[in-house]
Amino acid sequence: MEAANQRVVYIHYTLTNDGGEVLDSSRGGEPLAFLYGAGNIIPGLEKALGGKTAGEQLQVRVEAGEAYGERDERMVQEVPRSAFQGVDQIEPGMAFNAQSNQGPVRVVVTAVSEATVTVDGNHPLAGQALNFDVEVTEVRAATEEEMTHGHVHGPGGHQH
Ligand code: ZN
Repeated sequence: MEAANQRVVYIHYTLTNDGGEVLDSSRGGEPLAFLYGAGNIIPGLEKALGGKTAGEQLQVRVEAGEAYGERDERMVQEVPRSAFQGVDQIEPGMAFNAQSNQGPVRVVVTAVSEATVTVDGNHPLAGQALNFDVEVTEVRAATEEEMTHGHVHGPGGHQH
């Protein structure tokens, strides 16, 4: 069966950046399961997997625009320390959930001064091309319930 809309695709993958650093991998655990065409994974990788069948291996390079997007410097903001009430120690690298006009956003602290904290709301992988080494392990028809929910149930997917 080929990967296509309304089908569940299971993959093992290793994700590296252009420097060859491994950022993520499913190897050693359950394969990742996603519902094709439902926006479960980044568009560039989904597109590359279209029509693939179990056992196929491929190397996919996904440009930032088809992965987590380009960096948006407007997402970098300097906020007063008073915005972090109840947090004793604020250090670069710490992540917080912040409220924005578009709902909650995960931000990472990039700099700290006496009065202000600089936070970055970009996805950590924004602005980066991603290299996937992928193996399709299984393709099956999605159940009605999975199609209604827009995601896969069971191992590698949602457990509920
Ligand atoms: Zn569900």
